[in-house]
Amino acid sequence: MSLTMKLKKSNYIIMKILKLFIILLICSIFILACSNDDDTDSTPIASDYDITSVLSKFSGTGLSYQINGDNVTFTTQNLPNHTSPYWGVGHAMYEAYNGTNPNWNQNPNLISTRNITITVPLNPSEATNKVATSLGAMGIARNGIVFFNQYAGPNNQPLTNEINSFDQWLGHPQQQGTYHYHIDPTYLTDTFGSDAFLGVLADGFPVYGSQENGVTITNADLDDYHGHVSATADFPDGIYHYHITSEAPYINGNGFFGTPGTITN
Ligand SMILES: [Zn+2]
Ligand SMILES: [Zn+2]
Repeated sequence: MSLTMKLKKSNYIIMKILKLFIILLICSIFILACSNDDDTDSTPIASDYDITSVLSKFSGTGLSYQINGDNVTFTTQNLPNHTSPYWGVGHAMYEAYNGTNPNWNQNPNLISTRNITITVPLNPSEATNKVATSLGAMGIARNGIVFFNQYAGPNNQPLTNEINSFDQWLGHPQQQGTYHYHIDPTYLTDTFGSDAFLGVLADGFPVYGSQENGVTITNADLDDYHGHVSATADFPDGIYHYHITSEAPYINGNGFFGTPGTITN
C-alpha cells in the first residue's frame, strides 16, 4: 500500500468515527431533552401555596393546631371569644341583643362546648374537580369558630329567616349548640380590620374580609367560588383567597376552589 493510499484510508476511518460521534451527540441531546420534560412534570406548579405564615394568628379558648406532614389539624371547642345572648342569662359572657336588626328573633339554642377537628392541606392548590360545600362546618375562623355556607338546613334554603337570629356579632348556634358564622364575623373585622385574615376554609385557602387595599370587594370582583388571586399582607407573593362580601353567597360560592380536607364534629 502506498503512503497516499494509507492516508486516504485513515481519513476515511476518521470520517466514520466523526459521523458516529455526531449521531451519538444528536441522540444524547434528544434523550436529555426528553428527561428534561419529565423533570418539568414533577416540579411543583405555581398554584401550590403555603399557609404556614398565618397559623400563629389562630387563637382562642380550647383552640390548638398541629402540623402533620402535608396537613395542619385544628382542634377547637368552638367557644366564641365575644359576648352573645346565646351564652344564656347568667353566663359571664352573656349580653342581651344590642344589634341593629329590627326583626331580631332569638333562636331556642344555647352555645355549647364542641370538640371539632378540621384537617386542611398546608400547601393548598386548585382542585381539578371542584366539590360543593355541605351544611355544617366548611372552615374555621381565627378565633376557633366554624364557618357555615350560604344555606340553611335541611334542603339548602336561603338564609333569609336564619339571618334574623344572628346576634350582635352576626353568629348564632344551631341545635347542638355549635356557634357559627355564615356572614361577616363583625367581632373579628372590628378587632383586626375588614382587610384582615379571618380564617381558612377546609381546602386550606385563606378567608379575608370585605376590604382590599382600601377598596370594598364585591361579588363581581370574585370567581364562582368567591375568591381570586392577589397579594395580601400575609402573602406578599400572592395567593388564592376567599373574600367575605356583604351580599349572598357571603363567604363561599359554588364550592371549594381547592381540595377540602376532613371535618369531624
Ligand atoms: Zn346557621
Ligand atoms: Zn383579595
